[in-house]
Amino acid sequence: MALTVEIDPHSGFCGGVIRAIGSAERFLSEHPGRPLHSLGAIVHNEEELERLSRQGLVTVSKEDLPGLAAAGLTSLLIRAHGEPPETYRLASNLGFEVVDCTCPVVLKLQKDIRAAYERLQATGGGRVVIFGRIGHAEVLGLVGQVGGDAVVVEDAQMLRAFLSDGTIRRDARIELFSQTTKSPEEYAEIAGILSAFLADPSGLTVHDTICQQVARRHSKLSEFALSHDVVIFVSGTTSSNGQVLFGLCKSLNIRTFHISSEADLRKEWFRPDDRVGVCGATSTPKWLLERVASHIAGLSL
Ligand code: SF4
Repeated sequence: MALTVEIDPHSGFCGGVIRAIGSAERFLSEHPGRPLHSLGAIVHNEEELERLSRQGLVTVSKEDLPGLAAAGLTSLLIRAHGEPPETYRLASNLGFEVVDCTCPVVLKLQKDIRAAYERLQATGGGRVVIFGRIGHAEVLGLVGQVGGDAVVVEDAQMLRAFLSDGTIRRDARIELFSQTTKSPEEYAEIAGILSAFLADPSGLTVHDTICQQVARRHSKLSEFALSHDVVIFVSGTTSSNGQVLFGLCKSLNIRTFHISSEADLRKEWFRPDDRVGVCGATSTPKWLLERVASHIAGLSL
């Protein structure tokens, strides 16, 4: 039997990333010679960023904005992760034209967090708790909706520390949200710990805010990882979703390897009769998965 390679049909960009890249490419083709500045990387994938930079997309940080405005470079893209309200104010004050690519799923989450916060304020207080990665762009955008007055928990251990140091009180009412790309299993664990801790568990409202595209991908990817001898997981090193999905594959198939591009592949990972599965995160382009798969198929073992 020879080595076979299959690409996971459910891997590749999610709808939010496809939409953002489409908007960037449209803007650049409609404004030849005018660069578009993306506030943070439009996608956590170095290969795709390089492709888009050849078309005129430049990744910048908030600190760069005054200098860009002074130089008359005033086209700004807000990526699918979204931004806090102060970013929009800053961009408007500096005269930027904003191409807003915030994913509709994230926009709804931002709106729901604002509404929950106002509800708590109007009815005697409580805490907005967000399960997400501290400092992640989407989480910064979410926390910004409530002026920073939210508790961000990264995992069960951090949550337990907040319960014991009084950051979250037993008599509190809690509105719980998740960053869109977190693991559904871990979110359920966080909700379970909170519910068991509160004096009145009915004071906990758990919002179902994990992106459905991500949630579906978890179950499909589990099947994919189990049905292959070797799993090659392709994603950028800074992709939060990539880290979660790689961890999921690795927990199911010990022969799972993480790479950013075909240059990271190692011959010794493969045996001649292996069934190899190639998959990736919501930020991994299909063309990169295809390139990796064809490289593996061409290996002489
Ligand atoms: S993962 Fe879901 S919420 Fe996040 S950008 Fe993609 S489609 Fe939108």
